Order: sequence, then structure tokens, then C-alpha cells
Amino acid sequence: MSATTPEKHVFQAEIQQLLDLVVHSLYTDKEIFLRELISNASDAMEKLRHIEATEKNIHQPTLPLEIHITTDEEAKTLTITDHGIGMSHDELVKNLGTIAHSGTKSFLKSVKEGGATPANMIGQFGVGFYSAFMVSDKVSVYSRAWHADSPELVWTSDGISGYEIEETSGLERGSKLVLHLKEDGAEYATETRVKHLVETYSNFVGFPIFLNGTRINEVEALWLKNKSEITEEQYKAFYQFACKSWDDPSYRLHFSADAPLAINSLVFAPSENPERMGFGKAECGVALYSRKVLIDASPKGLLPDWMRFMKGVVDSADIPLNISRETMQDSALIRKLGSVISKRVIRMFEKEAEADPEKYRGFYRKFDRFFKEGVATDHANREALAKLLRFESSLTDAGAVCGFADYVSRMKDGQESIYYLVGSNRDQIESSPYLEAFKARGLEVIFFTDAVDEYVVDSLGAFDGKKLVSVRHGGVELEEQATEGEALSPELTASLCEFLKVELGERVVSVSSGKRLVENPVIALVPADGMSPQMRQMMKAIDENFKDQVKVELEINPRHPLVRKLAETKDGNPELARLVSRQLLDNALMAAGLLDDARDTVSRMNTLMEKAMGA
Ligand code: ADP
Repeated sequence: MSATTPEKHVFQAEIQQLLDLVVHSLYTDKEIFLRELISNASDAMEKLRHIEATEKNIHQPTLPLEIHITTDEEAKTLTITDHGIGMSHDELVKNLGTIAHSGTKSFLKSVKEGGATPANMIGQFGVGFYSAFMVSDKVSVYSRAWHADSPELVWTSDGISGYEIEETSGLERGSKLVLHLKEDGAEYATETRVKHLVETYSNFVGFPIFLNGTRINEVEALWLKNKSEITEEQYKAFYQFACKSWDDPSYRLHFSADAPLAINSLVFAPSENPERMGFGKAECGVALYSRKVLIDASPKGLLPDWMRFMKGVVDSADIPLNISRETMQDSALIRKLGSVISKRVIRMFEKEAEADPEKYRGFYRKFDRFFKEGVATDHANREALAKLLRFESSLTDAGAVCGFADYVSRMKDGQESIYYLVGSNRDQIESSPYLEAFKARGLEVIFFTDAVDEYVVDSLGAFDGKKLVSVRHGGVELEEQATEGEALSPELTASLCEFLKVELGERVVSVSSGKRLVENPVIALVPADGMSPQMRQMMKAIDENFKDQVKVELEINPRHPLVRKLAETKDGNPELARLVSRQLLDNALMAAGLLDDARDTVSRMNTLMEKAMGA
């Protein structure tokens, strides 16, 4: 490259697309460009601070870490200067000429599909720099990278098809952006307008900002301040600026501790869940700082994975600055820190849920999968997280929810287990024959209706020392209760069970007289180690050849007229009794969602109807 001939480059196709979008579609919120550029300047200086801890060869090491903005109304320019890490030739090409982030592609996609509110999300997707072209028809980026031997360069573009890079001289370390404003962007060359924007969007930037020589922001690491000195607006602005969010926070936890670790932490729960909106798995949104110096914006291994929806800052003076991303996951210190934070966060949710159950319910509806994932994967916090789960039950109204703690508080004297039933929705579960016996005894049954619930319940196993038991399974001990109606004698019942066992053969594990039934003649129970209908469905979805001979425990209701009649018929008309027995089993399997092949069932049904009509 020579100092006289500028090197010409063409923008990558996606960048052109992006620029076109940014310039022509997002202009309603033009003013955010300044926030984006200041944020880049601040990031560049954070990076420099970090490098300072480990590198020696830094150019102009004593330059103050400040952002300087100057306006020139006459020339219609706005200049933003930082003393951050700057960019080398390759970095200029890579960072400003190609799409470096996979996020940018999803941004383009989401804009095209028209779902998201792009103007607010622009920073979220890392397309910040290009927003300069919303207000400028030419942008020059003067840059000198931090290495002592880096060249001085200027990158210039009209934001349409390409850019040029040229050598220059007289630069200090860092970047200087000169925006040549468009006619309708001229307001951004006036001091009052720019001052207002900085105060609105960039007040918490961790470096001093000067406008035409005068300091205009308060440098605030909000998380280090006293709660009583912070207003709601400041919290919200921090959440949106520092955490790059576009929604409002729904909950927040601001706390400090001295022992066992020095911690200052400010974390938020959002009100929108991007994973639910189809944006893919989020990265950890809680940044790790040590004494205001950013260590990692998205540290892996600090917080349990299920907490990735939380946003904010954890600052611990006990964490060494030069801890590397690689060693972080193995660090006992980091684990300790993460464990303290996650416990506090869970407790925060517990308290908030108690204080305002309605609000929590709305929040839970959007974020429930994270808590469920936590129960399944975060061993250390499993029981605490289980308290945060919400569900409907046989004692809640449709649409209303409760938690395990509510359930336990309502348990009957002598009840030792927590009963639940998995199904696809409340109606389906309520009409299930499994529920009868529990209803009759006033025992509450939890209704799990989310596809992942069964897995979650399996991992949890128990709550508060009480076993979680599916009412679908055999082996549930129910109390004897006074039941109405005449029943078969114990002898006749035993011989009917015997008959059925022989008749149904391989299809049943056992046949017994049950205490469960009130309305139905028989019920099919899945053995405690058997697969539930949901699990079987999943297996079938994964493997089309999946065949699992369902074997159930059959319970009969000795008070039911059909059963009583069957006991007589088996001696008088064994052939009819045989047909009825098989039909009863099929009916029970059908009610349980376990009947795979109904061909026999239908033809048998026809035979039975013929007989009933005396054909
Ligand atoms: P983002 O800031 O979200 O990464 P941008 O499009 O705003 O996306 O910037 C792209 C990249 O350009 C940044 O990641 C950074 O590496 C580099 N960059 C932008 N501004 C500066 C600056 N002032 N100093 C150093 N590097 C910068």
C-alpha cells in the first residue's frame, strides 16, 4: 500500500444489504446512531484496559481513556474520538467491511420477516457502526491500533458500495470517526442536540465523555453505588444501555457482599424471551467485571446455563484481571462466585413470586422453560428451583396455577406423596379415569401439560422429601374408603381376576381388584418402571420402527355393574365373557392413550353389538 493511492474495497454483499436497510428502513430512530458509536468507543477502551493488564508494547500508554466529541455546525461534521485499541489494516477490513457476527445475519432475516422492531434491536445484533450512515453521506474512520508498531490509517466510505483505506499521519492511539452529515442530519452538528443525546443514552458509559471540551456524563458503575441513591429510571436506562436490551426489565437484584467473596452485582430478568421468539439459544448476558474492568461480556462457566436469560453485571475484586476464558471454567473462584449469584437470583424470584403472584405468573409463562431446564440440569439448585415451578392441578381453577409449596401445604393427613398426571391439556387430563380415585378421596393431583414436564419431574424425583408419583402408575397405595353400592364378594372377585389374567395373557402384568375406581369398570395402570404414553409417543417420533408391547396392570372395579355381570357370564357364557374381557382391556388402553392398533377392537365391537341386538 502506498501513501498516495488509496486502496479500494467493495463491501461484502450482506453489508450492502444491511446498509441499504439501515439507511432506508430504520430512519425513524436515527438518533440511536450516537449511542452505538459511543458504545463502540467505550468497548474499544475496555479492551485496551484489559490488554494493559497483560501486554507491554502499548503505544502511548499514558493517553487518558476518554471519549471526545466535537461538533462543527459550519462544516456539518460530528467527530468522535477514543483512545481505545484502534484497528489495524486487517481489522478495518474485517470489522467494517464484512459481517463478523452471525447475529447480523439473524438481524437481516428478522427484519425481512418483519417480526422484530428493528430500530431498537440494531445494537443487539452488532450492526451498530453502520448506523452512522443513517445521518452521514460520508464517514472517515482514522485509526491507529494499540501495537507500538501499527500504521496510521484512514478508512473512508459513502456507505453505498465500498470503502477506501489510506495511510495517514499525526494520529494518536485509538479511533477517530468523522461523520460528514447529510442535509437532514445537520442537527447532529449542534452542541445542544448532541448533549441531550449523550445524557439520554450514554450516561453510564464507564469513561468520561467530553463534548467540545466539556465533560458531560457521570461516570457511573451503577452496580457499585448504593441502592438508595439510584432511581428507577436510572436502573432502567442501565438495563437498556449497559445490557443492550430493548425491553423493560421485569425483575432486578442489586446486591453486594464482602464474604466469602467481594461481590457487587446488578442483574435483571428481562420481560421478553428472545429464545421463544425464535432467535436461538441466548449467550450468557451477565458480564463479569473486576473493579469496573470488563473481564468477559459473556463468561462461560460463571452462571449455570439455564440462567442465560438474565442480564447485568457481576463485579468481583477477588477475580484476577488476567484470568483467561480457558481457565475460567476450571476456576474454583469463578464457581464459588457463580454459586453465590445463582442462589441469590433464585431467592429473588422466590420472594418476588410470593410478593406478587400475578406478575410472576405472567413472567413464568414466558420463561418457564429456563426454570425447567434448571431443575433438570442444575443439581446444586434443583430443589430451590423446583419451588419456582408453576402448574395447574385438580384443585386449581382452569388457568390458575400453584407451586409445589402450595401443594404440600394442602396435603391431607397421612398423605406421603405428591400426585401428578401428565397429559396434553387440562381437559384431557380431567376426563382421565386415573383421576377418579384421587378426586373421590379429595387428594390433589398436579396436571403437567408441557412436553418437557415429564422429563423434569423425573429429574426432580421428590419435593420437600415427598416423592412425586404419577397416578397413572400402579403401586400407588390408596386408603380404603367407604364406597357405595354392592360389590362382588372377595371370592367372586378373585376368580374373575384369575379368569381375566388367563384370558388376557401376555397383555397384562397383573389383574387385581382396585380401590381406585368409582365410575369406570376397569383401569389400565402403567407399571412404575413402564413408559408413559408421552414417552412412547416421543420414541415413536424418533424411531418409526419403535414397537413396545404395552403391558399394563389391570384394576377392576368390583362395584361396577358390568364387572359384576361379567363374573356371572364367565360361567354361563364363556365365549361372550371372553369378548367382553378383551373389549374392556382395549377400552382401558384407549382411555390411557396406549392403544396402538384398533383394528381388532373395531371388529370385536361390531360382534358385540350384533350379539346385543340379538342378531
Ligand atoms: P459491534 O460493536 O456490535 O461489534 P459494530 O458494527 O458497531 O458492531 O462494529 C464492528 C466492529 O468494529 C467492532 O466489533 C469492533 O471490533 C470494531 N470497532 C468499531 N468501532 C471501533 C472503535 N471505535 N475502535 C476500535 N474498534 C472498533
